[in-house]
Amino acid sequence: MSASILSGKELAAAIRAETAAKAAELTAAGRPPKLAVVVATADESSAWYVRSIANAAVKVGITCDIVDLGADAAPADIRHKLASLSIDETVHGVILQTPLPHGAKPEDLAGAIAFEKDIDGANPLSLGRLAAGLPAFAPATAEAVIAILDHYQIELTGRRVAVVGRSTVVGKPAAHLLLDKNATVTVCHSRTKDLAAVTSNADVVVAAVGRAGLITAEHIRPGAVVVDVGTNPTAEGGLVGDVDAASVTEKAGALTPVPGGVGPVTTALLLQHTVQAASIR
Ligand code: NAP
Repeated sequence: MSASILSGKELAAAIRAETAAKAAELTAAGRPPKLAVVVATADESSAWYVRSIANAAVKVGITCDIVDLGADAAPADIRHKLASLSIDETVHGVILQTPLPHGAKPEDLAGAIAFEKDIDGANPLSLGRLAAGLPAFAPATAEAVIAILDHYQIELTGRRVAVVGRSTVVGKPAAHLLLDKNATVTVCHSRTKDLAAVTSNADVVVAAVGRAGLITAEHIRPGAVVVDVGTNPTAEGGLVGDVDAASVTEKAGALTPVPGGVGPVTTALLLQHTVQAASIR
């Protein structure tokens, strides 16, 4: 039997509709929500991603400024721009797009984003607050993992979850959010010995690695739920996940697709966070 498909499209549409209603309310109240995306790269896939966020924002009534500082921007200039957007009262959400110029570290620079406007949870303060159980915006991708599991009413309390990947943007915040849901969480990474032995013991596997098809049927216990965060470009111009969908679908109980799973929910949550930030006075 094939795994059921946990599409993110319906959930993303619901989040966008709710966000559009909230954005209209804010605009009517004289507080039109605005998002600023700071870019300092000539990377084409990054430019495509930023344009897709800007288009999605406009569709729900959020203004989106793309602040392009150029691929040779100095770290000090990026930091200065993030700090000035953080005190600009017309801007409610700030994203620092990666990659950054050589020598500029996102975790250093994102500290200049006011945490109230840090709608993609990039400021280390946001991750710290998240870990401490204090209000903060989680990185949208990590939150999207939980949102999809919630949407499909997948119970997490007491379940064993293996998160493959420990980045500060996906793996670690996802692990914190899963702990908050009372899951028993194991975080795996490139030095994990016998990955399949760990993941095949889990009720839920979250793959956030960036290696096409790394997770195969041998990594999955029968009936497990698999969330594929990976987005790996193919030679044909398409996108594949970290999960080998062809083999895993024959063994798992449920699987998020790539594309159409975590990705659309991530974008919708960035917009939702922006109106939430604009709602706080
Ligand atoms: P990253 O910063 O490169 O982190 C990758 C993680 O995977 C690291 O913790 C690394 O371990 C681990 N890893 C690498 N090879 C491994 C292996 N063979 N076995 C086990 N673990 C291994 O990547 P990221 O930013 O977290 O992104 C992960 C994936 O999610 C990428 O495909 C990215 O494109 C995708 N993504 C998708 C969205 C979305 O909206 N859908 C958003 C963000 C990212 P070490 O720590 O030991 O190096």
